[in-house]
Amino acid sequence: MSALNRNSMHKTSHIIPADCAPDIAGGFDALLHDDKKARDYLLELTWPTGDPFCPRCGHRKVYTLSGERLRCASCKYTFQPFSGRWINNGALSPSEWLRLIVLFVQECSVHQMKDQLGLSYNTVYKALTAIRFAILGHALDARQLISSATGLDSYLKGNRLTGGPRDMHMDTIPVYGILRRDDIVFIDLVPGFQAETLFHFHMNFHLKLIRTGNLVYTDRYKDYDTLIFCGNDSLPYEIIRRYDEPPHIDAVQDEFWDYAQSRIKKFRGISCQRFPLYMKELEFRFNNRDKSIAEMLAAYLCALVPTQE
Ligand SMILES: [Zn+2]
Repeated sequence: MSALNRNSMHKTSHIIPADCAPDIAGGFDALLHDDKKARDYLLELTWPTGDPFCPRCGHRKVYTLSGERLRCASCKYTFQPFSGRWINNGALSPSEWLRLIVLFVQECSVHQMKDQLGLSYNTVYKALTAIRFAILGHALDARQLISSATGLDSYLKGNRLTGGPRDMHMDTIPVYGILRRDDIVFIDLVPGFQAETLFHFHMNFHLKLIRTGNLVYTDRYKDYDTLIFCGNDSLPYEIIRRYDEPPHIDAVQDEFWDYAQSRIKKFRGISCQRFPLYMKELEFRFNNRDKSIAEMLAAYLCALVPTQE
């Protein structure tokens, strides 16, 4: 049973410091230190009509069993209120989840988060992975991204984030394209392209490559302002030539690229396997930069994990 279902209120309250302004919490300000209210809020997001339904088949006739368990009258599946949802990944109480969301919105470091929440590094890290998957799961191209093409499918076992990364090499490291349309940015998986493809284009067709740490990006390519991938130590970075002229994306001083670069600098420690999670997080933050994203994130976390094909 996860902490979410225990309705626990044993954690001492932590006051959000001045640099983590509470107004970011928006509508759920009052819920941050009240597990009962926090849980009711999350349940409203889980079952918007107020009636529970089966997370497996969608059937609305559901029996209440002992504890917090429910059973579907149709497929007989026994479940908890948050079963099959992103938020079911992580041992956080309801109010801890909401406080984590507030700290995530503020882009605090994992260390700051763990100190403020009084949780272990691993617990916070796993919960953040669930938040990032929930964001990616709501992207238009979610199905394409949670697949073997990106390797993200290996993190999911059924609807649980209990898997891990698989090895990646030259011929499997995926390539993403950044596209700007007015105020919106799209970060796409470029089908059929791997790190190897870009090295080949660099060597044989003079596609400009720029490397910073494990991050490699290109000059403009077709509709994309840049193609980008996060590599690892297995790649032949030494073949990348140096240029005097900056690539297109650096030259045009694109607003998203400025926004992303300051954050990408922190990505040096990020693996090629987790890279799409961070890129889709940047896409989400940028495209919703004028909105209050805390409530959106809470709703995303309460959504069902899509079934894998
Ligand atoms: Zn069912």
